[in-house]
Parts: sequence; C-alpha cells; structure tokens
Amino acid sequence: MLKRIVFLSFFTLTFGTVLAQNITGFSAENVADQLDLEAQFEARLSAENLDTWMQRLAAEPHWVGTEYGKENAEWMMEQFKSWGYDTKIETYHILFPYPKIRELKLLGPEPYQATLKAVPVEGDPYTAQGDALLPSYNAFSTDGDVEAELVFVNYGIPSDYEELEKLGIDVKGKIVIAKYYGSWRGIKPKLAAEKGAIGCIIYSDPEDDGYVRGDVYPEGAFKNKTGVQRGSVMDMPLYPGDVLTPGYAATKDAKRLDRDKAPTITKIPVLPISYEDAQPLLAALGGPVAPDNWKGGLPLTYHIGPGPARVHLKLEFDWKITPAHNVIATLKGRTYPDQWVMRGNHHDAWVHGANDPVSGMIALMEEARVIGELAKQGTRPKRTIVYAAWDAEEPGLIGSTEWVEDHEDELQEKLVAYVNTDGNGRGFFRAGGSHTLQSMVREVADAVKDPQTGVSIKERRIAAQMVNGGDNSFTLSALGSGSDYTPFIQHAGIASLNIGFGGENAGGEYHTIYDTYPHYKRFKDPEFAYGVTLANAAGRIVLRIANADVLPFEFKQWQSTVEGYLKEIMDETDKKRQAIEKHNKLVAQNAYQLAADPRKPFAKPARKEAVPYLDFSPLQNSLAQLGQRIEELEGLELESLPANKQEALNKALKETEQVLTESSGLPRRPWFRHQLYAPGFYTGYGVKTLPGVREAIEQNNWKEAQQQIEKLSGTFLAMDEHLKKLISLAE
Ligand SMILES: [Zn+2]
Repeated sequence: MLKRIVFLSFFTLTFGTVLAQNITGFSAENVADQLDLEAQFEARLSAENLDTWMQRLAAEPHWVGTEYGKENAEWMMEQFKSWGYDTKIETYHILFPYPKIRELKLLGPEPYQATLKAVPVEGDPYTAQGDALLPSYNAFSTDGDVEAELVFVNYGIPSDYEELEKLGIDVKGKIVIAKYYGSWRGIKPKLAAEKGAIGCIIYSDPEDDGYVRGDVYPEGAFKNKTGVQRGSVMDMPLYPGDVLTPGYAATKDAKRLDRDKAPTITKIPVLPISYEDAQPLLAALGGPVAPDNWKGGLPLTYHIGPGPARVHLKLEFDWKITPAHNVIATLKGRTYPDQWVMRGNHHDAWVHGANDPVSGMIALMEEARVIGELAKQGTRPKRTIVYAAWDAEEPGLIGSTEWVEDHEDELQEKLVAYVNTDGNGRGFFRAGGSHTLQSMVREVADAVKDPQTGVSIKERRIAAQMVNGGDNSFTLSALGSGSDYTPFIQHAGIASLNIGFGGENAGGEYHTIYDTYPHYKRFKDPEFAYGVTLANAAGRIVLRIANADVLPFEFKQWQSTVEGYLKEIMDETDKKRQAIEKHNKLVAQNAYQLAADPRKPFAKPARKEAVPYLDFSPLQNSLAQLGQRIEELEGLELESLPANKQEALNKALKETEQVLTESSGLPRRPWFRHQLYAPGFYTGYGVKTLPGVREAIEQNNWKEAQQQIEKLSGTFLAMDEHLKKLISLAE
C-alpha cells in the first residue's frame, strides 16, 4: 500500500510538470488538479473486477431477446446504481430473426449434407451448452428455398466479379460460395444478388483464420474445422438499426414497414458454414482453376465452376419483434449538467462473447465504478457523464441506433462527444474518430503506460507503425461503421471516438461458440492488463472532456487530415484516367486476346468510358480559406479567457461536428449525413472519406461527382462560418 502511494505522488509530480502546458483545453491553474484526478483514477482501477465481471456476463449465451441478456442488463443497472449513477433501462421493440430451418445439401456429383454444427471442445465447458448455443446463421438473410449450380467467387467483392467477367463466368441463376474476409460480410450477398445469383454461402477458409494461421482450438486460438462465424448481413451501408423503423425509434407503438418492404433485408438467402462443410462443396466444383490469389488453405485444387456441383439451400426464420434493453447510467455534472460526455459499449453477444463485447464492457464498467466513487468523495466532474450498455449491436447496431433516433434533438443540444469501445485485446493502441479530437487523444496516449513494456501506449504504437513502414505521427483513423459510434457520428453529427487494443491476440473465435472465458484467458489478455489500460485511456478521455475549461477540439490537424483526403481523391482520379487510357489502347491493339492462353476461356474486355477532368477548385479554395481562419483561431489563447466567454465558446464548440453533416445526407442513403466519413456502399465497415465525392468517382458517375464537389465545398464554407463565430466569441 505504502509503495503505491509513493509511486503515485512521484507520478503526479513528474507528469504534472512535464505535461503542464500540454493538456488541450485546460487553463494553467487547472492542469495540476486534472492530472491529480487522473492519477487517482488510474490508481483505483482493478484487474480483479474485470476478471470477475467477465465470468458473470459471459457465463451463458446472451444475444438480444434472451433471458440471460435481460438478466445481464438488470445486473449492470444495479452495479451502476451502487456506484452513484442515476440508471435506467430503455427498451425498444425490434425485428430479430431466429433460425427455424437451416439446410444445405450438395446434391451431386457426390451428395453431402452440411452438418452446420460446431463441436464442444475439451477444457471449455461453455462450448458444451448444447441447445443453449445460438445456431450459426447470418441475421437478416431473407427466407429462401433455392437449388442451383455452385460458383466460387473468392471473397465476393467487386474486383472478384471483374475477374469472373474476364473468364466469361456469369453467376446469374447460380448459388455463390464466398470466403469470409476481404470485406464486411453483408457486401457478399448484396453484390451476389445484384449480379443475379439466387443464393449465397459464406465460409471461413483455414488460410484466413484456421490451421494455416496457427494451432486450432482447443490446442491454439484459431478456428477448428467446425467453427462458424455468425453475423449480420443487414444492408447497414443503407441504414443501420431496426429494419422496420428507418430513421425513427422502434418504440412499442411505432409505425412499422411491412417486412417484405424492408430494404435492408437481403434479397437472396445467405448462410455461413465451417471449412469442414465447405470442403466437399469446393471439391465438387469443375470449370477453370481459380487464380492464384483466390486459392485458400484447403487440401484441394480450387476450381471456380459453375457446377457440376449442385446445391440446395433452404432457410426459414422466425421473424419476431423482440425487446432490446439499453442500460443508461448518468452522473450529473456539477457545473454544466446540460453538457454531456457519453461512453458506450454493447452488451449483447452472438454466443458468450467473452471477447466481443464483454472484454470492452467490463473496462467501461470499471471506469464508471471509479469515476462514481471519486464523485462520491467530492471530485464530481464539471459536465455530465453518461454510460451506456447497448443491446442488439450484433444484428445491426440496433440498440444504439434506436436510442439515438429517439433522443436525437436532446443529443444534438447537449452531447459534446461519444466514446465507443467494442471488445479489447493485447497489443497496440488503436483509435479512430473525429479529427477535431486527435490532439486530445494523442495527449492521453502519451500519459497512459503500456503494461508490457512500460513505455507510453503512444510510443509503443508509433514504434510498431515505423517498423511496418509507417511514419512517426500519431493519427486517428477515420470511422466507417461496424460498431455503436455509427448513429452518433454519421447520423446525429456528434464528435465520436472508437478505441481499443489489439494486434497480439489473433484467433479464429470471432462470433463463434469458442469466444468464451477460457479462450479469452488463454489467448487474449490473460491478466486483464490491457482491460485496465483501456479503462485508463478511455476514462482519461472522458474526464478531460468532462472537466475541460475549453472543450478540447483542435482544428489544425483536422484541416491537414481533410486536405490529405482531397489530395488522395485527386491523385486516384488521375491514376484511374491513366489506367483507362492504357486499357483502351490495349483493347484497340487486340493485346488482351493475343496475350491470353488460347486453350483457356477468354472474354474480350470492352472499351471503358474515358475519365473526364473534374473541377476540384471549389474544394481547394474553400479549404484554403478555412486554413487561414484556423490560423486566426489558433492565435487566440482560449484557455485563458474569462469564464463567461469560455462558456459561450463551449456552447458553440460542441456544435462543430454537426456543421459537417447535411440533412439531405449522402446520395441514395439520406440516413448517413456526415460529409467527411461514411462506411463504403460496397465495402461495408471500411470507411470512405469525403464519401459523396469519392464514391461518385469510384462508380464513374461524373455528373454526380461534380455535384458532390459543390455540396462538400458548401459544407467547408459552413465550417468557415462556424469558425468565424468561434473567433468572434473569443475576441
Ligand atoms: Zn462487438
């Protein structure tokens, strides 16, 4: 005990002096108090709590609608209450499909019936819970009963279909089989249906997360031959959340779409399978041998088909309205109760979900416990802190999306920032989010120690970055989709972050029955050292936003990041123009045909439309103007302004992210309003920055590209007006 106290004061002293001028948003006289508070916070974090709570939350399967999921929500509510939070459960009524019939048969040449069942393994009693385990399926696949020849489409992403076209292979009327990975899974059935396929099978190839990568469970962390990845295939790039209530909350009496009109349910049936079940199907394919970069790790020659393999796929779901329980815990701020910082992680899992989501949930709870206890002892934060445990994230970010849609006006008025986590592992600090927060996150990463090496999590991450060919800058990645930050940043326009640790805990357990406590303890973060480190980093971020004199938004790094995105788009447009010019030349010279093996199938490629010159100058000019305005703002010493000016400034500052959204949204998907970041329409989770302009160019839609350039420069000019207002409030 004594040792710890000595260490603490040394810590406070050292960091208090070293970082004195370096905390964005704090006046000189408040820096020491804040650092002292953070040191007290860090000292109280307990790995033992994390361990105990994981065993509690991940004891039984707890997908949305289960009794255990509800018990978890109620148990968490009691914990938050005991730590001094005003806590409630907010329930929505959402459509959730449970699999009734799952049948997959290879009809010939050699018949085979897929088992669709992962086996229990020795040493992990959780995997032996039998019928309590959720059957493997893809949520929001449509019902279907189809029979056709099979075609192997690699990852089933756009470039794979270009390759098939070159080979003269059409998937129309066929059932496709695609590997997991390469894109978010929902893209595979979406694209297959657009190409005319009538069914879709997704399997885990051992090359991606099975025996090619390492020993399989239970010997090692990777996927054994029976493991199946569950997951949603809802068309989330269109809109996430309840499929029947787009853009508004799924309350009990909400008006609902008819299910057959819900645009985010897939058009064709889709089923995930193990590599044990995939092997006979792939082995039965004829046709051309797959290109080298399509081949996986199974002991067979990968052919594309179509046929002679013929398969029958039958799926039927119980489409039920199911309650989703969000836990919302509030600690009222002492000075600005109407300015909120929010921190969330989901609590529902596909099966036990020790890693996804429980490892992040327990870190969040430990943060909340310590911040609550510090508040009881007199250091209540200035702003209100709201903790959330979301339900129904796995089937489509449903709990958080419905909650944001329900509370949108209040959030836009009060919420300064949302900080998300979703599972956690061992290794390097990963952070994505609004670039106005980059500077603050970097400072926090400088203050938090890596548990394995003792250097800061920033230093360790930069070391890894440089070893892998990167530079030594600390940047936030841009957010696409894939977790509960999506409705906050992309729909409501709330500055958001998503953080976690990983890179040293690879495995194949994701969304399988093997994501259990024993698996986590052996292969992820055995001592919960990174769980505590995550709580430390996220807790400091929350405390800095909650206590800052001036909200810690910074614009210089924001602007250079956005300029980088624009440059990238302009360069890619030029590259595309050159590639198409070359392609058309080769077509004219008949070169493709002359270079092809005459004994292999060949489809002569068509000429492509030339890329016109777009006028990017509205963006260049508005960004240049913004650059000057930011210089002006940076020249002002906001932290030393009198309190009444800071208060007015903070009110305006928290609107910043909303300035970057447009109420009309992105083309063909108005739910997505942010003009800087969006999940790709054909990549799913993968982000597209400056998405309106970038995706129009990628889709060769030149007229729309020019329109989107005008629209985006309008957004930048609105940002300029916003900064002008900030400057006038500070002067
Ligand atoms: Zn998750």
